Amino acid sequence: MDSDIHHTDVAIIGAGPVGLFAVFELGMLGIDCHVVDALDAPGGQCTALYPEKPIYDIPGYPEIMAHDLVGKLLEQIKPFAPVYHLGQQVTGLETVDGGDWLLTTSMGTRIEARAVILAAGVGAFGPNRPPLDGIDAFERQPPGTGVHYFVTRREDFRDRRVVIAGGGDSAVDWALALAETAASVAVVHRRDRFRAAPESVRRLRELADSGRIEMVVPFQLHSLEGEGGRLDGVIVSDLDGNQRRLAADALLPFFGLHQDLGPIADWGLNLHRHHIVVEPSTCAAGLSGIFAIGDVAEYPGKLKLILTGFSEAAMAAHAIFTLVRPGEALHFEYSTTKGVPGGVLGGAKTPTAT
Ligand code: FAD
Repeated sequence: MDSDIHHTDVAIIGAGPVGLFAVFELGMLGIDCHVVDALDAPGGQCTALYPEKPIYDIPGYPEIMAHDLVGKLLEQIKPFAPVYHLGQQVTGLETVDGGDWLLTTSMGTRIEARAVILAAGVGAFGPNRPPLDGIDAFERQPPGTGVHYFVTRREDFRDRRVVIAGGGDSAVDWALALAETAASVAVVHRRDRFRAAPESVRRLRELADSGRIEMVVPFQLHSLEGEGGRLDGVIVSDLDGNQRRLAADALLPFFGLHQDLGPIADWGLNLHRHHIVVEPSTCAAGLSGIFAIGDVAEYPGKLKLILTGFSEAAMAAHAIFTLVRPGEALHFEYSTTKGVPGGVLGGAKTPTAT
């Protein structure tokens, strides 16, 4: 056995809400797993795209903020002690002796698993970066300073001079949110029309009228100023080449995210328009031991919702049991009967008769 290789029952590609819930469903069947994600933090789209937006269609929660849902999922799966490999993309997947799968990541991590669950959404996330000279020197700075493509906590920007670029929902929503805490907020957009929700645009203009937000339109990003990775100013220019300098500690360009399946597209799976076609009752993806759940999985009538993905996680976990525990009988049991190791609500639950 190669000691550099992690060995586990199941490798989950994607730590979005659906990948996280798969840890729970597998754990309830006594199946261990490792979870890999290209992002530095778990939560997938909930963390990267809308952490502070409320979700209204999670059963049992009339309203829950996306980042709170991720927090609850992490709490729910803690008893199963999954091993996380974050900030690394799975780049290779190959079969090895005995029918196992070997995953390789962009950081050289290798994981051998009996089964693989692809909970990859619509692929690994990457921001659309503005083509500005030397921008990389200002990236990966501490939150609140430099160039950032995601915001997870508005508190990081308290008392900072923030320049936001873009005209979609993310740009407008974060301008509204940061106007409450930042020292100043300037919104740079190449035209005076925004593609965000009308109510949000109305509030943006209201805050601009009151002087809380500065609208810098129609302007585009031109260059960045600062020393040693510390941003100090953003130069913008209009279509006639007229330039302005905006004092800034942080620049938040919201030009969308590109998502692509990347290497997953080369693994011989049955793809349809960037999604993996699965057998709906098990989420099996056509290659023995490979399953796909959540946004990445496709079958007739598929609804791309978190709750759909949760159900797919349960079906895939049950289908995987016979692969990782051959010869063992799988008895369907309710969680109320089984309890959870360690007991999430304090102490191991006592199994009750049904
Ligand atoms: P994702 O959340 O997309 O996570 C997939 C993860 O896989 C990503 O973190 C990605 O980095 C990772 N990944 C992909 N490929 C690789 C690789 N090769 N290596 C490593 N990591 C990889 N749904 C609802 O049900 N209700 C709502 O109200 C709702 N509101 C939404 C609002 C917005 C603004 C958006 C954008 C979406 C909303 N959704 C909502 C949709 C919901 O967020 C998705 O259905 C859900 O996130 C899908 O979860 P997932 O785990 O399948 O994939």
